[in-house]
Amino acid sequence: MNTNNSCIFCKILSEQSEDKFLFKDEFCFAIRDINPVAKAHFLVIPNQHLTFLEQWDESNLHIIGKLVKNASNLTVLEGIADGGYRLSINQKGDAGQMIDHLHLHVYGGEKLRSM
Ligand code: AMP
Ligand code: ZN
Repeated sequence: MNTNNSCIFCKILSEQSEDKFLFKDEFCFAIRDINPVAKAHFLVIPNQHLTFLEQWDESNLHIIGKLVKNASNLTVLEGIADGGYRLSINQKGDAGQMIDHLHLHVYGGEKLRSM
């Protein structure tokens, strides 16, 4: 498993008890964002410390599918699927990325402002 000792998401994955995750399987886990910017805001994160998309190789591509599918499953569990939701991945400075361990933001639970 590719992990990074100074990464907050790797730390959460290794130290947080299983019942604190919204979801966890062999590929990814989900948590509520600590600083939500929508009524519902959670993060779906690969277990491996994978970073920038343009550096991913073919062997990692299935993980994107896992992230998206599990994110959409969570919107059903969280009751925001019917109203609508947004998935987004920030990449590097211009996108305002703060944590380089790739993660999928899921926003919903209210009318979202367009960018
Ligand atoms: P990004 O700007 O895409 O890198 O987003 C990082 C997100 O992680 C932000 O929305 C933060 O609020 C969130 N975040 C940072 N630390 C934690 C934490 N310990 N638990 C949950 N979410 C966090
Ligand atoms: Zn990490």
